[in-house]
Amino acid sequence: MSFVESYRGHLKADDEGQKSHSQSADSNLMPGKGAATVSTILEDKGHVIYSVKPESSVSDAVSLLKAHRIGAVLVLGADGGLVGILSERDVVRKMADAGGHVLTLPVSDLMTSNPVTCQSNERLIEMMHRMTEGRFRHLPVVDDGKLVGLITIGDVVKHRLLELEYEALKMKQMIVG
Ligand code: AMP
Repeated sequence: MSFVESYRGHLKADDEGQKSHSQSADSNLMPGKGAATVSTILEDKGHVIYSVKPESSVSDAVSLLKAHRIGAVLVLGADGGLVGILSERDVVRKMADAGGHVLTLPVSDLMTSNPVTCQSNERLIEMMHRMTEGRFRHLPVVDDGKLVGLITIGDVVKHRLLELEYEALKMKQMIVG
């Protein structure tokens, strides 16, 4: 039996009995809406989280990384709480030391315990700093103790590029009149 499982983070809508809705890219980039936050990204990409258990094998975790073309999986304890993160980098580094035998080890041997997290209402620009300074590319999103998603540096950079393009377009329109 595989210990690998996919987990959908808790949605605010689960409490409210209503579906969350996506905003258009345009409305998310509108000046005056306030600085973009983590929730801006989650509304766009959704709340799906790929996870393994601490006792899952590294081999199972690697299969999940490949199947979903992702760079890290979250590690959840028996109660569903976040206990760690396993990145492709952890596997590669350990393989350099221990070779292929790494695939049979439990995820708990390689994972980073108690990863740094963020909240939905935090500003994206601050998350960019958090990831750059911490030298990692993944940030689990935890609201009121509940795991609700995961953002990556790629998500944040993509959003920032769209914002810059939008700002450039608006300036061009102002100049042209
Ligand atoms: P990454 O760049 O995210 O693939 O991960 C690089 C290293 O940082 C790996 O050792 C990960 O286990 C670790 N890591 C990834 N995300 C986090 C996080 N949010 N908090 C702490 N460590 C992390």
